[in-house]
Amino acid sequence: MLKTRITEMFGVERPIVQGGLMWIAKAELTSAVANAGGMGFMTALSFADPEALRAEIRKCRQMTKKPFGINLTFLPTLRPPDYPSYIQVCIEEGIKFIETAGRNPEPYLPQLKAAGVKVIHKCTSVRHAVKAEKIGCDAVSIDGFEAAGHPGEDDVTSLILIPLTRDALKIPIVASGGFADGRGLVAALALGADGMNMGTRFVATKEAPVHENVKKTLVVHGELDTRLIMRTLRNTERVLHNPVVDKVLEIEGKGNTRIEDIAPYVSGLRGKQKMLEEGDTQAAVLSAGQCMGLIRDIPTCKELLDRIMAQAEAVIKERFGRV
Ligand code: NAD
Repeated sequence: MLKTRITEMFGVERPIVQGGLMWIAKAELTSAVANAGGMGFMTALSFADPEALRAEIRKCRQMTKKPFGINLTFLPTLRPPDYPSYIQVCIEEGIKFIETAGRNPEPYLPQLKAAGVKVIHKCTSVRHAVKAEKIGCDAVSIDGFEAAGHPGEDDVTSLILIPLTRDALKIPIVASGGFADGRGLVAALALGADGMNMGTRFVATKEAPVHENVKKTLVVHGELDTRLIMRTLRNTERVLHNPVVDKVLEIEGKGNTRIEDIAPYVSGLRGKQKMLEEGDTQAAVLSAGQCMGLIRDIPTCKELLDRIMAQAEAVIKERFGRV
């Protein structure tokens, strides 16, 4: 048992969070994380419209009686989402935890607070974490440079970012970026976090609703097999290295890149269809973190979380049992 401010805030047994994963964090995965004692967030934008999100929330409730939340990402998109309606559905369905990401969630906080929703804001710099605390967020998930997806533009690794965030904030923090096992959990706690977030590691689990090839790819590839795309647009994304990524980098290398130039390659719908559904790992972009180097199998979420907790407890005992 590792009781922290994060387990207390969410009412879960284990200080392990499955953050938003576009197209992947759906009821199957999030309920499995919840049933394994962790905290899971389903990603709102994975659902074509707010009513589809409502149906998924109800489905997830059928699959677990434990707490779970919803991720709302405010990054640039090719298809602008109707955020107010997604938020309204979350409130109507009694969601008590929302993970925001990508942009300052301040415009939505009064509505969320009035509905008794706790907000954990995911960000990639100390200054944004400080701002999140100032505007009334209940916790922060701080995302180091190792992370999959959008790790920001500052390139500060978790080893530095987590203690700096701890020093700057009073509210609970979750360490994100580079975490995949029990050693990472102990490190996160040692650096001052109250829990750890995993993304890529959860994609390589039995319950993740993606093609088997994607899971095997995460096992086979290592810490050197990611690339940073969209740096030229200041919307950097860490992804699995493949030929589509090389094409995007080639276009970006020519300079003066516009989103229109690379949209056919980076489109989320392309990723959903070709990568996640058809399992063609060479044909689209897949967010993936450097922690691929630590992923060696495809367990169930329960097996994964049991193992992480056992390893964390063993590490604490062996390394810190006495001084
Ligand atoms: P999408 O198909 O709308 O866009 C594809 C990619 O292009 C995304 O990375 C998006 O941020 C980027 N993009 C779109 N318009 C842009 C613009 N005008 N300027 C710069 N970049 C632009 O995205 P999707 O796959 O449907 O995902 C929906 C949202 O979820 C996006 O905002 C995406 O960034 C986000 N997402 C976040 C993560 C993460 O790590 N937090 C991972 C995957 C997706």
